[in-house]
Amino acid sequence: MHQPENRVESTLLRRINERRLIEVIQQQGPSSRAALTRASGLTAPTVSKAVDSLLKRGLVEELDPVGPALGRPGRLVRMAADTATVLGVVIDAATCSLVATGLDGRVTEERTRRLPTPATYGRLLELLARQCRSLFDATAATPLGIGVSVPGLVNERLEEIVFSPNLHILDKRNPARDLEQRLGVKCILLQETDGLCLSERLYGDARGLRDFAMLDVATGLGLGVMSGGELLAGHSGMAGEVGHITVMPDGIRCGCGNRGCLETLATDAALVRLVSEQVGRPLDAAAVDALLAERPDDFAGPVGTVTEYLAIAIAAVINIFNPTALFVHGTFLAGSPERFARVVERVRQRTLTASLAECTITPTRSSKRQGAVAGVIHHLTQAWAPAIR
Ligand SMILES: [Zn+2]
Repeated sequence: MHQPENRVESTLLRRINERRLIEVIQQQGPSSRAALTRASGLTAPTVSKAVDSLLKRGLVEELDPVGPALGRPGRLVRMAADTATVLGVVIDAATCSLVATGLDGRVTEERTRRLPTPATYGRLLELLARQCRSLFDATAATPLGIGVSVPGLVNERLEEIVFSPNLHILDKRNPARDLEQRLGVKCILLQETDGLCLSERLYGDARGLRDFAMLDVATGLGLGVMSGGELLAGHSGMAGEVGHITVMPDGIRCGCGNRGCLETLATDAALVRLVSEQVGRPLDAAAVDALLAERPDDFAGPVGTVTEYLAIAIAAVINIFNPTALFVHGTFLAGSPERFARVVERVRQRTLTASLAECTITPTRSSKRQGAVAGVIHHLTQAWAPAIR
């Protein structure tokens, strides 16, 4: 007779094998069972059993190989793209966006919806719930979950956003829990920079990396750190708030209430504010983009200031965390090769040489939508079995 511990052990082993296969499929795309056997190092019968179980759970699906194949072609196994659906919901200061996709995580414009962020939390929930329902209704695929990406400080112990400096309607709220109650679908709350980290590791240039950092400089200044393959969390998940380090003690008031925080000087939002001040009227990001393209020399001052402080932020992250790669998410400096090259040049002067020698600095192509999707897919696979490496 089997002892109960043995049964637990074999269930866990089975799930770890299944998790291993999911990782292989995520890395190499649709694969035959033979290819999965080769790549995973598991035996053919184990792979076969694991694939059957994942098919039954709806996490993967099978499809016929395209093109002529010699002999008896094996069917391909891929992440469930047609039979399962997940949503990525991005709540941001000015605009919210929602995207529907399969477990392959492919984010497209056609399946994206955007809405201006409303002024109250109640209205926000109402609009998001309506959009989520309509996205689920538009497909016959099974809804498996929703990733909700939010700006601000997420306290994982209290399971709420304790403080969102640039979007105060989220203070003391948990939109994921509230959406889950309304929709009856698993919803995951994600700090937006953590979402970007997961996205970079699942779909971007950080595949296979265990120690890297993500600096988001779009609106606020967010930092996500992947250390030894795990997201750095701290006691309550609030670690990494470099944006609120004081760099100018009597500087302008920050959304957090302090003065002269790094995020008031090193971000896209900072550049928009500085250019607006120079021309003497409020401008939006598109207008600043146009001005920088038309008359770059006129705005060398604001661009120089933000370049300097962004370099300080990047140097601080590299000095403190010793990542092998640092990704920068943003538009004005990260989105322009010439301006980004100048930032990196300044970083070189401010970082410890030995730390910088081990680190590449690149702009990221990951989007917050992709981050929200990566977050929920990560949760679905993580909840199934822990990673063993
Ligand atoms: Zn601050």
